[in-house]
This record gives sequence, C-alpha cells and structure tokens, in this order.
Amino acid sequence: MTFDSLGLSAPILDAVSAKGYETPSPIQAKAIPAVIAGQDVMAAAQTGTGKTAGFTLPILEKLSQGERARPNQVRALILTPTRELAAQVSESVATYGKNLPLRSTVVFGGVKINPQMMKLRKGVDVLVATPGRLLDLCNQGAVKFDQLEVLVLDEADRMLDMGFIHDIKKILNLLPRQRQNLMFSATFSDDIRQLAKGLVNNPVEISVSPPNTPVAAVEQWLCPVDKKQKSALLTQLIEKHNWSQVLVFTRTKHGANRLARQLESRGINASAIHGNKSQGARTKALAGFKAGSIRVLVATDIAARGLDIDHLPQVVNFDLPNVPEDYIHRIGRTGRAGATGQAISLVCADEFKQLTDIERLINQIIERKLVDDFEPVHHLPESSLKQRPSHTKKPKKVKPGHRDGQRSSENARGHRSPDRLVSVDGNAKQSANSKSRSRYRLDNQSGENPGSRPKNRTGSSARNSSGNHHDNRPGTSRNRSGNR
Ligand code: AMP
Repeated sequence: MTFDSLGLSAPILDAVSAKGYETPSPIQAKAIPAVIAGQDVMAAAQTGTGKTAGFTLPILEKLSQGERARPNQVRALILTPTRELAAQVSESVATYGKNLPLRSTVVFGGVKINPQMMKLRKGVDVLVATPGRLLDLCNQGAVKFDQLEVLVLDEADRMLDMGFIHDIKKILNLLPRQRQNLMFSATFSDDIRQLAKGLVNNPVEISVSPPNTPVAAVEQWLCPVDKKQKSALLTQLIEKHNWSQVLVFTRTKHGANRLARQLESRGINASAIHGNKSQGARTKALAGFKAGSIRVLVATDIAARGLDIDHLPQVVNFDLPNVPEDYIHRIGRTGRAGATGQAISLVCADEFKQLTDIERLINQIIERKLVDDFEPVHHLPESSLKQRPSHTKKPKKVKPGHRDGQRSSENARGHRSPDRLVSVDGNAKQSANSKSRSRYRLDNQSGENPGSRPKNRTGSSARNSSGNHHDNRPGTSRNRSGNR
C-alpha cells in the first residue's frame, strides 16, 4: 500500500515523501481514510506506531478544503497531556502541512500567555494545546470554537492519569455539538471507555497492536540489584557497553534530579526532565539529548510521555513504575518505527510486586541477567505468571537477636538458590550447586567495578519507596500548572 491510495492530495503527499515515508503504517492505513470520510475514530495505538501522522494528515486534508479560520477561531483542536507532546505534534502539523495555506500553532503552560494570544488573534486552522492553558486562553476570550470541525484527544489515557478529566469536560462543553471526534489512547481501560461514550459517535475502532503488548522489536531484560547499588550499576552498564544515548526512568522528580547529579559526578553527561523544571530547561535538555551532547536523559513518566526521539537505542527503568501500563509506555520509547532497541530494568527486592504486575500484563517473564559484583544481597524472588505473590506469610519464630523476626542479610543471602550462571556471550558457568533454573550475568572481564560495593552490604537494605510522590499528578489546579 502507498500513501497515494489513501485519499490525500498532492501537497500533503509531497510533504510525506519529503519526510522519507514510503508506506503508511498500519494505523495510518486505517485511520486516514476513515477521518477523511468524516467518521469518528477510537484508536488503541502505542506511541511509535505513527499515530500522529495518522490523525494529522487527514485533518490537514479536510481543512485544506473548507473556509479558513476567522479571527480567534479554531478549526481543529488537538489536546495532548504534556507540553513536550504538544510541541512535537505541532511540529508534525507544520511539517506535513508545509505546502498548504493553513495556519497552526501550539499553546501550553509554563511560558508567557501573551504571545500565544497574539498568534490566536488571526485565527488558526489547527491548534495543539494542553488542557490547562487552553482553558486560561478561553477564559480570556482568546480562543473561540464556532468554526470547530475536528477534536482530537491524543494520549487520552495519560490525560486521565494526570487528572485532566475535569478540564476536558469543561472544554467539551465549550465546543459545538456537531463535530468530528478522534480519540487515541495507548490502553483502553474502563475509564477511557466511559470517557469515549460521551465523546465519540459510532466510531471506527482501530487497534493496530494488541493492547498491552510491548513493541516486539524491543529486547527486554532486567538486572536484579540492591536499591543502593542501582546508580553504580547504571554507571557501569553505560560505560561498559558504551551506551551513547540512554533514556532513564525514575519514579519521582527528586529521584531524577539525584540520579542526574550522581551520573554527572562520575563524568557522564546527564540531565533531568520532569514537571518541576521550567519549560526552557525541559526544552534545552531534550534538544541536548537529541543532539547527542547529553548522554543520559533522566525522566519521570509524565515528562517523558510522548517524547519522540528517533532511533533511541536504550531505555533503562531505574525504578519500576507503580502502574504496569507505564512500563509499556516507557519501553515504547525505543524500537520505534522499525528500529530495534533494548529496555533494561534495574530491579530490587522491594519491586517484586511491580515486576510481577508488569510480567503478568505483558504475559512474559523478563529475562534476568546478574552483573558481577552487583548480585543483590536482598533476593529478588522468581516470578511466575500464574500465581499471585503470596502476601500471607506464616508467622516466624523469633530468633535470639532478631526482635522483629526479620532475616538478617546474611541469612537472606543464604536463602538465595545457587544457579546456573550464563554469561551474555553464552558461556555457561556452572556453580557448585547447579539447579535447573538459569540466570544470566554480564561478565565483568576487568573485574573492576567503578561503583564498588559498599563494605557493609547489609547497609544496602532497600527502603520501600511507595510513599514517594508521583510526578505532577494533579489534584488541584495549583499543582497542575506544572504541566500546563
Ligand atoms: P508517532 O507514533 O506518531 O509518535 O510516530 C513515531 C515515529 O514514526 C516518528 O518519528 C515518525 O516520524 C515516524 N513515522 C510516522 N509514520 C511513518 C511512516 N509511514 N514511515 C516511516 N516512519 C514514520
């Protein structure tokens, strides 16, 4: 199939071929004709599937034919959860629409509102916006929707996660009833279906890859490691494998800052990107990462969502996400548009529950690789896709010296089953006490460990971090402004 057969006109086809796209991706093949035909669309599509062009190209096609936008009016509104995604979608609109006489712009928070109001004054055919700033602009009379033809909700699941539901409802109330609705979401939870009910009419449903299945091209593995050793292990992995561009996920903004500082102190160019950073700092970090001057970008889930970085080879989960679906979003940053990539998770014993949830979601046990000198003291239990991790433990006999009945680290080590260790180059290393279960380890041939293990390994007992703050999950308009 070619783009010519999808009903797009020459100016758009020229822009697509200038981008180097030869064949439409599956979502584009399905969505483009449906949108041109005026149908509502509800699409389950992960990032990396080409969904942006899937809705942008047919919208441009339709808008190229109607009456141009009058002052302060908008003809197509694309709502995105984050500023970065808004900026990227807006870039795509400009790229694909470069041969058309259409105006487009992007509005989001964290930057001055006046220049945005000026741009809207003449009217725009396509407006890309984050919900909070759009409402501010509406309240000031800078945006009007009498001419609105199409609404797109991009990454709708993430909008709900971020608490934008009330803003979205307010925006929907401002729009004309007669309009075309397109909704894109990586996953279709009950909440999303509920939102869709009040939004799309008799939609064409498109699902280009089975929901909750990670991009097949991504090679996934994990390193069991104690929490305190994660940063040193990451340093070693980056240096040993000479990774040049790594996107690292942490669960919290604070954790992202701390890790970026630690990497910098070890001579690895790193920058953190999250909701507390100014828009200028976020844009600069992203640009530096794309250009190669920043080797490691440490990001929280919300900041990283929607980042489109071509050919990203490595994604590292420094912390596993609490929401298993986020694992899929994270590893979707690599292996995009046919490229191959690696997703590596550093998993400590505390994260067993998150690991099990993820493995059940993707219906796959993630391969484990032990790294020399980083074998965890606190054992990461073997996972199973079948049984729920047991929470009911038999009461233990309290040993002398163990007032709380917990095992000491030495005992914990004693409980680890000896394994058949296989280096990544395939050489089997039989341990004295081989069992059928196999684990994998990366050979550290020099025997050196830049992060050197702490002398007192019991000091690495991992604290449960579930009490940490999430990145910018808004409950109030005050804390939501971080993402506007
Ligand atoms: P998206 O899922 O919209 O974020 O797109 C992911 C990446 O795929 C972007 O870098 C696009 O430029 C690229 N892309 C989109 N459509 C195509 C296509 N038909 N052929 C090749 N690359 C594409």
